[in-house]
Amino acid sequence: QLSKRLATIAKYVPNGCRLLDVGSDHAYLPAYLAIHHVIQHGIASEVAKGPYTNMVNEIKSTGLEKMLTPRLANGLHAITLSDHVNVITISGMGGELIKDILDQGQAKLANHPLLILQPNVDAYILRKWLMMHHYQLIHETIVDDHHEIYEIMVAKWTTQSFKYNHQQLFFGPFLLKQKSPVFIKKWHDERRHLEFVIKQMNRSSKPPLKRIKAIQHRCQLIKEVL
Ligand code: SAM
Repeated sequence: QLSKRLATIAKYVPNGCRLLDVGSDHAYLPAYLAIHHVIQHGIASEVAKGPYTNMVNEIKSTGLEKMLTPRLANGLHAITLSDHVNVITISGMGGELIKDILDQGQAKLANHPLLILQPNVDAYILRKWLMMHHYQLIHETIVDDHHEIYEIMVAKWTTQSFKYNHQQLFFGPFLLKQKSPVFIKKWHDERRHLEFVIKQMNRSSKPPLKRIKAIQHRCQLIKEVL
């Protein structure tokens, strides 16, 4: 059974697609999608040998060799355009790393696959990358999985022009509209944490004024949406 986080990602994977799951670790997500006949075919990729071995073992033990192909590769270099991948999932990493993977693999995005992303931190960086590369968000959700809060975003390539403002980039255009209880909790906790950090900084003999100002600005942004 999948964790709530992975199960939520799985919900957004369209039926009959050809999937690449980058950084698949145990390949739990593509294995689940193959067992439930959601995907037509899946490539599970890993850059590290240990997780790659876990993945190969998982695919063998579940008898999914025909449906799932394991590949040892860095980011989107796991595929070529002839794999006809039309959905890419990248989850459980920082937003900066996911952005780097997308940046370095831009040639592999020529078919404009659907992107389903779950950054553990720095979702802002990723939303900005999506906007700069004509990927428009079509779904966003936020889930609490055993007291860890995760943001999940689904983005589709578009020729239409669109723009997110600073607030939408920071909080997520859909999440901002929904303002779900999990969203409120995340940002309420973040604001309390930042206020605590400011207090600690102000206690020092030489408070770092520039950093304090930047954090105060973040707090103000959060205050405006809560
Ligand atoms: N995607 C799974 C999930 O959401 O549960 C596993 C997340 S795990 C924390 C991150 C995995 O990404 C690690 O196994 C790591 O080896 C892999 N990884 C990190 N950078 C990568 C890259 N550039 N290409 C492929 N895999 C990568």
